[in-house]
Amino acid sequence: MTLARNIIVFTVTVSLVTFVAFFGRLPAFRNTPIGFLHRLLIVYIPSALRNLDLKLTNGRITNGGFRLGHYLMHDKHPLVVIFFLGLVTACASLFLPALWHLLRPHHKLLVFLLLPQPYIFLYLSAKKNTQTYINTLNHAEQMRYYPYDRVLYYPGHTCSTCKFLKPARSKHCSICKTCVSRMDHHCIWVNNCLGRGNYKWFLALLLSTAILIAYGAYLAYLTLTPLAERQYNKYERWYIYVPKPGSNSSSWFTYFDKKGHYFLAFTSIYLDVGGIQASGVGLLALLTWPLPLGLLAYHVYLIWAGMTTNESGKWADWSDDMADGVVFLGQRKEDTMRENRSDTHMHAIPLRSGRSSSSSPIPPEDEEPLTTWPLESRHVLVRTRTGQAPKTLPSHIKHVAKEGSFEQVWSLAAVENVYDLGFWDNLQEVLFN
Ligand SMILES: [Zn+2]
Ligand SMILES: [Zn+2]
Repeated sequence: MTLARNIIVFTVTVSLVTFVAFFGRLPAFRNTPIGFLHRLLIVYIPSALRNLDLKLTNGRITNGGFRLGHYLMHDKHPLVVIFFLGLVTACASLFLPALWHLLRPHHKLLVFLLLPQPYIFLYLSAKKNTQTYINTLNHAEQMRYYPYDRVLYYPGHTCSTCKFLKPARSKHCSICKTCVSRMDHHCIWVNNCLGRGNYKWFLALLLSTAILIAYGAYLAYLTLTPLAERQYNKYERWYIYVPKPGSNSSSWFTYFDKKGHYFLAFTSIYLDVGGIQASGVGLLALLTWPLPLGLLAYHVYLIWAGMTTNESGKWADWSDDMADGVVFLGQRKEDTMRENRSDTHMHAIPLRSGRSSSSSPIPPEDEEPLTTWPLESRHVLVRTRTGQAPKTLPSHIKHVAKEGSFEQVWSLAAVENVYDLGFWDNLQEVLFN
């Protein structure tokens, strides 16, 4: 049972560290134990090691480590892709030959259908995508997809690297060295940015990987259980739980000790009958399938909320500032809104048509072209340093906000997200653009 225990401890630790490393930075986990563990892993432990190394070797060891860490996290490289594909390939080539003779024909067919999918969707996510990368050829088209909401995105900002106006919802990626349309995040798993064109393939990758891994665990359970039961009946007495002398049978310790004992006992029976090839890989699958599924659930939540990972961070910043009492919401001037809200699709009217009565300077027309998006923002948000209503407005807000309309807001519920069309429309937008 020692082997089973070691394998379980190792797999649970790796799964936990992977979970914290992948999920811990998400705004949803700010101010939670997972967020703390993430900071521990990414900030506190490296800086403690750095201080120790500075004392011992004048920083020689950690300099190399930081260079490697920087390369892994902030450079374009296929190492994580190779690791992932290598892991899937190695697991499949150990697992399938060991169990193939025990599989029924419909399971063999399903394996043929499910196994290639993560490879295909990873390729589609990682491939250079003309809808995701913004360049001078598609820039005009990219500007027409989304309006500036004047909460997360403002018109008139130029990318200092690409030298064109940043379309709403886009972000420059310093790793891919390009502006990315509807930027979600740069993903080291696919060695690419996820944006307007390839986000759907990333979702398909998460779904297909979760299904493949869960199916692998199920196949191991299905085929090895009859063998494990036979083994158990033969050596039953070895696996019976014997409480520690003097322990109280109703205590929580005894309860968990007993559960842990039987889990280890069954794992070791499965390892006996299936070996590392079938049972070890099956156990790894059992413990890791929630990882891609959890990440997929998070992205379904983002789609439901009408935001990207990049935007969820911006919303979380607004939420923190609202809690501090320094955020004010102002109404838009009607004459800066579209003229006819019921007939805006494909015929959107520019926000400034020369009818503005504002005396403040108006940026040139080409900063905010017509968009095909059905909604537009009816208000603006402003942070103030003092917690008092803004007296003078920043120039990018001044020409669109009604003066004197600013009211303090304490929660995001008061703010409209124009990029949220409702779950089904958001999903269609993600899948079919
Ligand atoms: Zn750029
Ligand atoms: Zn990128």
